[in-house]
Amino acid sequence: MHVQAVTIVPLEVVARNIAAGSLCQQTGIPLGTQLDPPLVEFYYKNDDLGDPLLTRDRIRAMDLASDSRVDAIIGLTQAINGHLTDFFQRCQIILVDFKLEFGITAQGQLVLADEISPDTCRLWDQANPDPKGRILDKDRFRQDLGQVADAYQAVLERVLAQVKSN
Ligand code: UDP
Repeated sequence: MHVQAVTIVPLEVVARNIAAGSLCQQTGIPLGTQLDPPLVEFYYKNDDLGDPLLTRDRIRAMDLASDSRVDAIIGLTQAINGHLTDFFQRCQIILVDFKLEFGITAQGQLVLADEISPDTCRLWDQANPDPKGRILDKDRFRQDLGQVADAYQAVLERVLAQVKSN
């Protein structure tokens, strides 16, 4: 594994293709609503404050990132969402939403950082219409649905099969 040290931008960047989780709880948008265009949201990476939702104005006021950096993060997030949505579609998995983090390299370049995994994505089995049975991500743990490791294993197998077929 090649790794690179970065200074993490203290934002959790969430892309949403389908309404789920806190979006439904906070807005009343029904679970499963298609979001077109997808949402890109910012949360402050601060456990003491409970990772609150941020606006562009708040990001500027808190001096967390410049306007141009926010624009660059939105652009990268949209591009990553496009790639990941296509990839998971080929795995027969619906990419509902996911969280990204970004970092700045020693050369000043903005790069994707942290992990992309079933811990940070909502992934639904395309072939399973059951609202609980289709869940292949950390929501199985959060909602105490059981078979957490089986779901993660299923994601791994489909991802590996897809990578090998390319
Ligand atoms: N997420 C994450 N880390 C967090 C919060 C959220 O990886 O600290 C991911 C979560 O797995 C989901 C997406 O971000 O894929 C959106 O999460 P949401 O805001 O709906 O919060 P949740 O309902 O997970 O608390």
